[in-house]
Amino acid sequence: MPVSEPGTGIVRENPARLGEIVGRVPVADAARVDRAVRAAEDAQRDWRDVPAAERAGVLSRAADALAAAGGIAELLARESGKPVADCEGEVRFAAAYLRWAAEHAPAAYADREVDDAAGRLLLRHRPYGVVAAITPWNAPVILTLLKVGPALAAGNTAVVKPSPLAPLAVTRVLELFPPELVRVVHGGAGTGQALAGHPRVHLVAFTGGAEAGRAIGAAAAAAITPVLLELGGNDPVVLLDDARLDDADMDRLVMASFATAGQVCMAAKRVYVPRSRFDDVRDAYVAAAARTVVLGDPLDRETTVGPVISADAARRIRGLVADAARRGASAVPLGSVRADLTRGHFVRPVLVTGAGDEAPVVSGEQFGPVVPLLPYDGEDEVLARANAGDLGLGASVWSADEDRAFAFARRFEAGFAFVNTHNRTGMSLRAPFGGVKRSGHGREYGAEGLLEYAQTCAVHAPAAFRAGGAGMGAGAYPS
Ligand code: NAD
Repeated sequence: MPVSEPGTGIVRENPARLGEIVGRVPVADAARVDRAVRAAEDAQRDWRDVPAAERAGVLSRAADALAAAGGIAELLARESGKPVADCEGEVRFAAAYLRWAAEHAPAAYADREVDDAAGRLLLRHRPYGVVAAITPWNAPVILTLLKVGPALAAGNTAVVKPSPLAPLAVTRVLELFPPELVRVVHGGAGTGQALAGHPRVHLVAFTGGAEAGRAIGAAAAAAITPVLLELGGNDPVVLLDDARLDDADMDRLVMASFATAGQVCMAAKRVYVPRSRFDDVRDAYVAAAARTVVLGDPLDRETTVGPVISADAARRIRGLVADAARRGASAVPLGSVRADLTRGHFVRPVLVTGAGDEAPVVSGEQFGPVVPLLPYDGEDEVLARANAGDLGLGASVWSADEDRAFAFARRFEAGFAFVNTHNRTGMSLRAPFGGVKRSGHGREYGAEGLLEYAQTCAVHAPAAFRAGGAGMGAGAYPS
């Protein structure tokens, strides 16, 4: 747990080695948040007039610096409990995203002008001003750069509040940007409230849970500040009856649930299998987990699943499994263990069978190394079950027939559907990502993700009043 006390700030302990202090950050009070926001506002007045290509250049240079920087992945592994190879992957992906954004931003934000029989219309993309980014701990580097990159490219400046559960690596990453453009304030809900509700903040970009999202939305509403919300998910996986499930497919399916110990918004959180294939898939799943799931210390390169983030999270996840067992479900332990489980917040990965759709392990976001395997009888039935509930982040469908998979995927109530994969292996820098229903609104990645950070403003000269125009009655609507 982070300890937040006046004087000591936030102390971050390694969740795999309790008692090992990874680092400390100071807590920003409301006065410090105010100074950061006002300084960001001053800097933005110059930054917004810098040509788009030069603004994009800042992203490219930060990407190069990130790729060259040493030690960030290890620091992230120690503060978050994610396996170090995953952390290296996240850092590489984040650098690739910055390069992608740098390449595409100038065109995305370019003026568009039409001059035709209806008149002359200029559309321009105006930055908001100061963007507040409030981010979670589970993939802090990429989830922060998905906000800071487009914010800067569009001509905004940024104030970032990282999660107190993983504040260290992302702070080091943000030091690779010019300091006047990106400021960091640390703390928990209080600091987040001061930032989201600050009247000089013009856009809030948030990734995290629904409860915090609601509180941030309420704080921002007082100043009529728009909010982008990337919230949680309860992603369904639907294996159609013709799904190709060789070893590589099964390995990918297993890690779609257990990467980052299941603590990923778009993890595969419930797996639906045709009843006729259920026993075979269950056995293949357990065999795949024996190949892929190694619970251990994040700095051990054999480890693929680390501890969960905190003692509270471990308790909550074990409670979900115990509740499923009380309802008559079975929990099958998966993979192998290389850790001394008493040294950290380790939770043994399990596959749950025999759970009903109403069990919380199925109906809610478990956000831990637990996944239910569920039989179904027909496609309409499984689609209705997949779409049940308030969340709609990701989903996936697995089939040997790609057209059949696409036809099925169109019917998901999800912001993003994967075909024959799920979770990070399905990501694309060019594909917009975000939720529908209560999983939030706003998009990251792709051109849509860039455009969230600018407002389209118009200048219009109606043809009727241009030189030689026919005019129009005072107060008339154009035809
Ligand atoms: P969280 O909501 O507890 O915290 C996220 C951030 O909000 C942190 O910086 C935290 O300090 C801050 N915060 C918390 N309460 C606040 C309040 N009342 N006012 C202002 N700020 C506040 O989330 P977490 O535990 O860090 O992450 C887990 C959740 O995030 C899960 O639900 C997960 O699905 C979701 N998530 C979503 C995505 C996505 O892209 N949709 C990605 C990753 C995580």
